[in-house]
Amino acid sequence: MSTLRFKALETLSFKNFRSENAVTVPAKLSELYCSNVFSEDTMREYLTKEAFNSIMDAIKKGSKIQRPVADQVAVAMKDWAMAKGVTHYTHWFQPLTGSTAEKHDSFFTPIEGGKAIERFSGNLLIQQEPDASSFPNGGIRNTFEARGYTAWDPTSPAFIMGTTLCIPSIFISYTGETLDYKAPLLRSLHAVDKAATDVMQYFDKNVSKVVPTLGWEQEYFLIDSALYKSRPDLVLTGKTLLGHAPAKGQQLDDHYFGSIPTRVMNFMKDLEIECMKLGIPVTTRHNEVAPNQFEMAPMFEEANVAVDHNSLVMDVMVRIAHKHHFNALLHEKPFAGVNGSGKHNNWSLGTDTGENLLSPGKNPKKNLQFLTFFINTIKAVNEYSDLLRAGIASANNDHRLGANEAPPAIISVFIGSQLYSVLSELEKVTKGKLSPDEKTDLKLNVVGKIPEILLDNTDRNRTSPFAFTGNKFEIRAVGSSANCAETMTIMNSIVAKQLRDFKAEVDALVEKGLKKDEAIFNVLREYIKQSKNIMFEGDGYSEDWANEAKKRGLSNLKTTPEALEREMDKKFVDLYEELEVFTHREVEARNEIKLEKYSTTIDIEARVLGDIARNHIIPCALNYQNRLIENVKGLKDIFDDKEFKKLAKEQMSLIANISENVSAIKLAVEELLAARETAHGIEDGQKRATYFCDNVKTLFEKVRKPADDLEMMVDDELWPLTKYREMLFTR
Ligand code: ADP
Ligand code: MG
Repeated sequence: MSTLRFKALETLSFKNFRSENAVTVPAKLSELYCSNVFSEDTMREYLTKEAFNSIMDAIKKGSKIQRPVADQVAVAMKDWAMAKGVTHYTHWFQPLTGSTAEKHDSFFTPIEGGKAIERFSGNLLIQQEPDASSFPNGGIRNTFEARGYTAWDPTSPAFIMGTTLCIPSIFISYTGETLDYKAPLLRSLHAVDKAATDVMQYFDKNVSKVVPTLGWEQEYFLIDSALYKSRPDLVLTGKTLLGHAPAKGQQLDDHYFGSIPTRVMNFMKDLEIECMKLGIPVTTRHNEVAPNQFEMAPMFEEANVAVDHNSLVMDVMVRIAHKHHFNALLHEKPFAGVNGSGKHNNWSLGTDTGENLLSPGKNPKKNLQFLTFFINTIKAVNEYSDLLRAGIASANNDHRLGANEAPPAIISVFIGSQLYSVLSELEKVTKGKLSPDEKTDLKLNVVGKIPEILLDNTDRNRTSPFAFTGNKFEIRAVGSSANCAETMTIMNSIVAKQLRDFKAEVDALVEKGLKKDEAIFNVLREYIKQSKNIMFEGDGYSEDWANEAKKRGLSNLKTTPEALEREMDKKFVDLYEELEVFTHREVEARNEIKLEKYSTTIDIEARVLGDIARNHIIPCALNYQNRLIENVKGLKDIFDDKEFKKLAKEQMSLIANISENVSAIKLAVEELLAARETAHGIEDGQKRATYFCDNVKTLFEKVRKPADDLEMMVDDELWPLTKYREMLFTR
């Protein structure tokens, strides 16, 4: 009997995880909110007025924090944290590995005379030098200058995890290049703030800051830990590389929004308690489409904080899941045949006067403001769709995009039929000066109509990668394990660039004698014309759309290597350089890292698949085949030839069938290994990734198919790998 699988199932059947880990949630979750965060309120309590104001200035206006203030903040943080049992501190950052990183240092400091004290200073708060030589850097840091450093980001509050004070930080090389997700995000926030605030002067001179907002929705799977451990592919690659589809999958749609299983509910409650303490305003939880798939979502926040919170949640989720004997899978496609996981990024722009710039207003003037930001965003996506596509590209996400469960790899924008007709009206605006009649008509019948129509705008198109949902855009193609910062950095950058260009064009028309409104209408009209191609209201999953998109000249970058090749286009590099979000070297380094990550992912999957096929599947199949052979031999002994032939027919054909599948696996694995060898010999990162994509990954199915067929032939008792039905339907 294959022990691990059956032991795992046995543990699961006999242990009562439901009551063992019952969680009671305090009646008022709100009382826990931010209890482990060095929040504005806590700072007010712990800091002198001057220090508090200086920190607030740094957060709101980006002013520099002076050393004495940093010292005061450090002492305050330490006192606050120690009162909560904290012994260590760490700069908490998001390197390009995709997970978060921390290096804990103790407050404990020995002093003279055999004594020791707890110490934390402004120096240590501001900067740390983790031994960072083994983080991905795309060749930026040569080993002889392997030093990188982390620097405090005061715009995201410090928090406590366990007994450690975590200080959100950026991570940069000694030569100043960014090596993480946060630093470019901050630069992009700055760029879009500047550009949007400038444009806002047309509408409201009181606005002095614009901040992007992000509301993420995180999908994930929960798999029992014992079952998880019994699958080497899950453990090593985060996904199953083999496994026959269960008789029941998601066909009945009976899981989506269904009642949440008790054991999962306990996990969710625990997670929500932890989130509350960390100041993550989680509000939504539900079952997702696939069995054992779930989703959580908080209230939206300023993008920088929201990104940190999402990174934090991914980390916390995995740990809390363990407590409940679950493994939380954040992989985009852990199981073939059922839906994978994504992470919707809801993006908008908010002002320091409390307005949402993508929310239609109460009067025509506010609506022109709305249309300005709305149309500029669409135009930005039209101009930079390939960059957005590259930003969500990963080996894991390739399994989802275009697989009729997530948006296609073609980037398009959905705005709903009513707004579409508003844009069609605006497209007809006269060139140059507008007559008084036209102005009135526009005000009353086009721009003035927007709030009404949006109220009953129930149009929801789930198949679009980029959809306007009433007061924000929802980017739906982001992968579940991705760091939101990447997509946010792109959104902020492309919209910043677009708004800059817009302002220049409007100003030029005003210079030529047009009124401000006339100039805005004139520029928007052209933008609508230029962006028509990217707008699509139909079924994004259909074959028709792929054909139509091709006719329109839209890209359909189906694989990561294709998307990443486009990322190095001069247009995109120029954009980043102009906005000072990335230098050419940084774009190149990141591109290189992503290509390398792609190749390595496929390479590891190939190895694991080969190993499992040879060490688990083939021996098991031969074992069962031997039983059949014994059985056939026995039949031969007791029956005469004619009777034997009749009775042994099925077994004989099964024996042959097993042999055929075993040979097929063996050949495919050899082919796979040879292809890997060839791939390893390719120097160029882009070419290597492409080879892995076209010549290695394509062989996976050749191994998997016969292996999955064997799963259906071999005695269930002998099968070593926990089956799909067991992973997806037991909890
Ligand atoms: P759905 O699941 O249908 O996409 P939800 O209402 O569950 O919609 O999720 C919408 C998400 O959008 C939430 O996370 C919410 O916080 C977020 N959101 C709402 N307003 C904004 C905004 N102005 N900026 C960014 N995100 C927003
Ligand atoms: Mg959504």
